[in-house]
Amino acid sequence: MLFAKKIRIKVSPRDAETLEFMQTKCRALYNWHLSHLKAGARWSLYEAKKTLQQSRQIDPELNAVYGKLLQEVFFRLDEAMQAFFRRVKARETPGFPRYHPRQKFFTLKYPGMYIHVQGQQLMLPTGGRGKTKRLPDIHATLTETAPTPLREVAITKDAEGHYYATFLSETSESPPQADDGSAVAYDLGIKTLATGYSTTGRFVHIGGFTTYRWYNKQLDHLRSLRARCHQGSRRYRYLTAVYHRVSEKKRRKQRDSLHKASAFLTRQAERAIVLGDLSQQQMVRKSRKCTKRTQGLHRSVQNEWGLYQFVQMVQYKAQRTGKTVYVISEQYTSKECSECGYRQDMPLWKRTYHCPQCGLVMDRDENSARNILARFLARLGPYLERDDVLSESSGI
Ligand SMILES: [Zn+2]
Repeated sequence: MLFAKKIRIKVSPRDAETLEFMQTKCRALYNWHLSHLKAGARWSLYEAKKTLQQSRQIDPELNAVYGKLLQEVFFRLDEAMQAFFRRVKARETPGFPRYHPRQKFFTLKYPGMYIHVQGQQLMLPTGGRGKTKRLPDIHATLTETAPTPLREVAITKDAEGHYYATFLSETSESPPQADDGSAVAYDLGIKTLATGYSTTGRFVHIGGFTTYRWYNKQLDHLRSLRARCHQGSRRYRYLTAVYHRVSEKKRRKQRDSLHKASAFLTRQAERAIVLGDLSQQQMVRKSRKCTKRTQGLHRSVQNEWGLYQFVQMVQYKAQRTGKTVYVISEQYTSKECSECGYRQDMPLWKRTYHCPQCGLVMDRDENSARNILARFLARLGPYLERDDVLSESSGI
């Protein structure tokens, strides 16, 4: 099993400068290749890797960056492109991989075998050796004990300027097995993050991160204050710093709530977690021709709740506890009556399902969750394990 642990690290000003230098170079290399792809160039990992030698001649500063980090840039680009191709093939409409912006720290990924951890000291190598070495290796201090054995270390920086090392390690521990055989099906939605229905006939309601409205208001206010200042003035810079701090806090809170919700969701099921396929969701499919109101809904759900991120969290948390995630087509699950199968149109604003045939009155999401579970148990729609359907893509 894989475990990730994020630890804050302390670095000297000189080492911080080295980190900044290396991430700038890596980002530039990434964006440079991406600009060619955006202009229509074909992507081939093999061909791209061969150009590194040439790039080194054009920009000798690349030699001061640790070689494995530069190679990692190609793997990251390849991952983003493969995810993009996979989603195009699955008839989704993914965005093309994006440029890495300057204000964001480009994650530096070190393969575990090139890293030395001694007690609280973490040594990160830089490029070149002997006389050609321009920058000394980085010696960072860990604030917690690093896990072993190491597989990979990723260096990141948050908006407040703190550096972190995320350790990926492998343990031989096997996940606990449950044999109760019960499953819970979830409908991921707009009003509540997830509504579940279990094989034992129990409903589960999981609300999402709702304080984002408060944060958005604060951020809007800061933006409007800043708009009245001269660009580059002291007050402008100050407000920018506050803005970054607040949005970072919002992001942290949101992620925390997603972690809690996904952990809770995963705990509810003994064996199987069934999710509707997000790419087929009505709000996503229909958004193009819908009114402004529903478009706004759809966008806000995607942005504020981060459903894709949520699904990924559920995925790895399930894996860790030995449960399986199934994704099934959720076509008509909100339109069909879960009691008698009657089908009617259910626009997004209708929150309650009224069945004219059998008289069922039920919450819209509860009705869908029941349908998803029934479909899963009947093995109707083609269902796949999560891995095959969606994997991380930088387009999201
Ligand atoms: Zn009915």
